[in-house]
Amino acid sequence: MDKERRKTITNLLRKGGKMLAEPCYKCSGVLIEYNGIISCSNCDDVKDLEKVSITSLIDIKSRLNNLVSRKIEEVAVALEKESDIRKEEELSELLLKYLSILEKMSKNDKNNDTKEES
Ligand SMILES: [Zn+2]
Repeated sequence: MDKERRKTITNLLRKGGKMLAEPCYKCSGVLIEYNGIISCSNCDDVKDLEKVSITSLIDIKSRLNNLVSRKIEEVAVALEKESDIRKEEELSELLLKYLSILEKMSKNDKNNDTKEES
């Protein structure tokens, strides 16, 4: 194992990666699990594994969720006060857009493996 690879693996383990008990089926090397992805410390590119961060994806998603929820509230309040019908229409459209974002995000949470609707 070269120095660079060893360093990456040490890093992954420090960041919550796990060494698995079963060996790699290709080379019998040590398997590392990081963020739910299993990679061989010997024959896979562990550098790629380090780049993947599901934790941060979840983080972005929940932040986006919060942002959109907040926006929906803002638009709803504005819509309540609005008396100009044209502006109401704009606000309603905006509201629908935000709601569809939320809907899409919650759909992805529930069934990741179903096919995309078009
Ligand atoms: Zn391997």
